[in-house]
Amino acid sequence: MSMPRRTFDVVVVGAGGGGLRAALQLASADLRVAVVSKVFPTRSHTVAAQGGINAALGNVTPDNWQWHMYDTIKGSDYLGDQDAIEYMCRTAAQLVYELEHYGVPFSRLDSGKIYQRPFGGQSTEYGKGQAVRTCAAADRTGHALLHTLYQQNLKAHTHFFDEYFAVDLIRDEAGYCLGVVALDIESGEPLLIEARATLLATGGAARIFRTSTNSHINTGDGLGMVLRAGIPLQDMEFFQFHPTGIAGIGNLISEAARGEGGYLINGQGERFMPRYAPHAGDLASRDVVSRAIIEEVRAGRGCGPQADHVLLKLDHLGDAILQQKLPAIRELSIRFAHVDPAQAPIPVFPTAHYMMGGIPTNRHGQVVVPDHFGPEEPVPGLYAVGEGACVSVHGANRLGGNSLLDILVFGKAASEHILEYLRENPFPRPLPPTAADLPASRLARWSQKGDGERVADIQSDMQRIMEQHCGVFREAESLEQGVTLLREQQERLQHARLRDHSKIFNTARIQALELENMMETALATMASARYRTESRGAHSRVDYPQRDDDNWLKHSLYFREGMRMDSKPVRLKPLTVETFMPQVRRY
Ligand SMILES: Cc1cc2nc3c(=O)[nH]c(=O)nc-3n(C[C@H](O)[C@H](O)[C@H](O)COP(=O)(O)OP(=O)(O)OC[C@H]3O[C@@H](n4cnc5c(N)ncnc54)[C@H](O)[C@@H]3O)c2cc1C
Repeated sequence: MSMPRRTFDVVVVGAGGGGLRAALQLASADLRVAVVSKVFPTRSHTVAAQGGINAALGNVTPDNWQWHMYDTIKGSDYLGDQDAIEYMCRTAAQLVYELEHYGVPFSRLDSGKIYQRPFGGQSTEYGKGQAVRTCAAADRTGHALLHTLYQQNLKAHTHFFDEYFAVDLIRDEAGYCLGVVALDIESGEPLLIEARATLLATGGAARIFRTSTNSHINTGDGLGMVLRAGIPLQDMEFFQFHPTGIAGIGNLISEAARGEGGYLINGQGERFMPRYAPHAGDLASRDVVSRAIIEEVRAGRGCGPQADHVLLKLDHLGDAILQQKLPAIRELSIRFAHVDPAQAPIPVFPTAHYMMGGIPTNRHGQVVVPDHFGPEEPVPGLYAVGEGACVSVHGANRLGGNSLLDILVFGKAASEHILEYLRENPFPRPLPPTAADLPASRLARWSQKGDGERVADIQSDMQRIMEQHCGVFREAESLEQGVTLLREQQERLQHARLRDHSKIFNTARIQALELENMMETALATMASARYRTESRGAHSRVDYPQRDDDNWLKHSLYFREGMRMDSKPVRLKPLTVETFMPQVRRY
């Protein structure tokens, strides 16, 4: 298949916070930088982040990066790599001040300093007090950050391919990554984007679950691309579930609702959380509340005609408090649950929220092919950052406010390494004649219209399987069935066809390509969950309820070929400070 070709120094796939932070640095160094995004850049999912970004500025309470580092390692249930975590926490303040200088309109304290709020799992003095560490622009931090980075990129002359869908990576026989093949969504025309370095910043994949706080674009495209390129994924069993997504839809109802005095009730009208967490009750940690809700539903004490959710009661707070303290939540509930929380409780259910695993990288953003028997090898010319990458700073469980930090810190770190790599590799490598064969064949396959199974039906079946077999609680038999069922869906997808509706044809083709990526991601997640026979962080195995450091203080690796599993050690050694040794995790 012959294709039009464009050449750049670097191609960045993804225009969320991670991609745009990296692109800004590269374009400011006068490189020719292309950013490819399947949606208009400021619609990337970073825009939805509300609460804020962590940095130990100490504007409200005394703070330092070592305490932040300790909290992050403890939050990760000791699975995070301590060199990367130290690097992130040490760099955090500098990154936030950079954002301020770029023009992010942070909220202000009376002193004029950046406003900071308390978030879960954050402490002072290694667990003694509550830290106030999360820097915020009201409840629209991601929005402010993304728009600012986009404007700065326009100023730096970054080239944007808006509404282009990256299909697959291009590599040569020596393993170098030479760019991507993308599809112009509007015209349906393919485009080969050649570059000496490629950065994947394609975000998370929580859309593999039936209900999710993520937008519809979070389909794990970067994960599918690397798996097809023979690169494994790391720690895919670790998905964070938020206890209060709107039931059946998943939009996030923030913990602030319970913080203001809201509480959960079951189908019998009982306030059940004190049975599960006598001290913290409704404000217990996210994994505890999520598990409690599922247990209520499984015991037949759910609400609604299907008894498949519980209710979050806020009406007793009164109109004034809802209006002053929780206006956005009220609006979300009215719009998506068709319930005014001033009058009736909101139906909620644990909802897939965040992916801790992803494309394995080192702290320079280089994609590394880990080898159990030898040192990790970087894939030359290939980098990954953001929620789709696993560096790994979140380990088995992410702290709120640490993802915006992760995407910025490692977006910057990756761009600095790319500058070095390009100096060492000043000339483009020749494209092999077969370079675009794989993406061309996938595009050709999804150009055929006809009668067959509907892609949308297979997608919803896959999402339901993920929810039923790989949700908050997991156990061997159900995970085994889940793998079998997912493989059946993958087989069904082989026989699916796009219907002949010319007006929707291109978007249907994108949905099919996305579903291929989601299917790969779902299989990686289910197989990794089956592999890890312990409970750690967000991964809760009822048949192995304890954390097992002797056997499982290690990262899992999933290879697409034969669905093979392997592992690699956690990097317990920080850069400059002492290791935080694993402890029993109590809050
Ligand atoms: C409701 C909600 C609230 C949150 N609040 C916070 C918070 O307060 N603090 C915090 O730290 N974290 C928060 N998070 C998490 C955080 O927002 C995300 O993890 C982070 O923004 C992800 O950024 P990213 O750059 O990796 O990807 P994204 O912002 O998701 O961007 C992905 C980009 O990749 C592009 N892309 C994907 N596939 C393709 C393809 N095939 N071709 C072309 N382009 C492609 C998309 O178009 C997009 O531009 C929240 C998450 C949710 C869901």
